[in-house]
Amino acid sequence: VRSANRGELIKLDKKIQTIKVPFSPPDISEEDIEAVTSVLRSGWITTGPKNMEFAKALGDYCGVEDTMLLSSATAGLELALRLFGIGKDDEVITTPYTFAATANVILHTGAKPVFADVNDDFNINTSIIERLITKKTKCIISVDFGGFPCDYSQISSIIQNKIKLFKPSKNSLQQSHGKILHISDAAHSLGAIYRGKKIGSQADITVFSFHAVKNLTTAEGGGILFNKTLNDPKLWRKEAGLLSLHGQTKDAMAKFTSGNWQYDIVTAGYKYNMTDMQAALGLSQLKRYETMIARRREITEKYSAVFEKNDNVLSPQTKNSEKESSYHLYTPVFLDFTLDKRDQFIKKLASFGISANVHFIPLPLLSVYKKLGYKITDYPNALKLYTGEVSLPVFSKMSDEQLDYMLITLRHL
Ligand SMILES: *Cc1c(COP(=O)(O)O)cnc(C)c1O
Repeated sequence: VRSANRGELIKLDKKIQTIKVPFSPPDISEEDIEAVTSVLRSGWITTGPKNMEFAKALGDYCGVEDTMLLSSATAGLELALRLFGIGKDDEVITTPYTFAATANVILHTGAKPVFADVNDDFNINTSIIERLITKKTKCIISVDFGGFPCDYSQISSIIQNKIKLFKPSKNSLQQSHGKILHISDAAHSLGAIYRGKKIGSQADITVFSFHAVKNLTTAEGGGILFNKTLNDPKLWRKEAGLLSLHGQTKDAMAKFTSGNWQYDIVTAGYKYNMTDMQAALGLSQLKRYETMIARRREITEKYSAVFEKNDNVLSPQTKNSEKESSYHLYTPVFLDFTLDKRDQFIKKLASFGISANVHFIPLPLLSVYKKLGYKITDYPNALKLYTGEVSLPVFSKMSDEQLDYMLITLRHL
């Protein structure tokens, strides 16, 4: 990209020594800090009133009634699989182009991850999903890569078309659902839009991440939404409550009430709850989340304008007639890059004080999946995208000066 003029280059030269652009620092306001410290002062720091308030606000924001907060998105994905009784001999279809959490949870249950290669928008290719479905397929986990929604309605039609292949196990939620469960790993896509609605009311179950690098953070944390497409989302929510807290019949708040010490453990559950300190941070962030997305959109549109006329660069898709991204990642693919050239480019950006990244190493390239026999050559599009992909910094606190510097640098390189 060599369209920077002389004036810009001089300006750039002066700035190289002084400006730094980190990859994705958290956006923490004074109000956020106040919200967390007030929980610390309140006398109730673990799961309690703030948790209920954030769970409700998250549901209102996404247009889904039955929600629950958890310690991470990973916990939410695993919980969904466990509730549906996924285990040995089952197959779960997912994308090879994601963070390891998406597929690791499938391995935890003893089921087999089956990868469907991706499209050029980094999202799972639905016609490949259709070909991979067998009578062992119990679940599809899609990912809204970088915040750009996947093809929800195609996935739901495919599940409907294959309904006769589905053989439910003895698990009662599996029997009442009667078809493949669609879980959305929406770790990136809080606030993204699909056909006029926010992400959350498309798949049967949607899981968000509030990890420190995500758009909205609680430091660590996750949220799970049970959609109306489930026969009885309230029952799912109730079962999830049990399984996420030791299988205990009373939560900490209920037990804390004087004279109310009795409890039972009805199943050997997990420990996946979110604290009120985290929930207070999430609630405070959610209040200004739309302005955070707006800044990300602005940065994204300016980056895309730089690459617009460059045929060697595949700019990330962020908006079309039915979808709009949450602008979590900016992931151009440089089609003429080799792995070496890509690494040199990232080092060069580093020498300019700019932290770039790669999202993600496709799972078949990671040792644990290689050892299980997965081969990257079976996922040619994932490999093509990975070879040329560079994630550029996008964060809501990016200053105008940092953005200006990014644009000049990108034009100059
Ligand atoms: C971050 C991430 C996760 C895991 O989120 P945690 O909250 O850290 O468990 C899962 N899937 C994808 C695609 C992610 O990027």
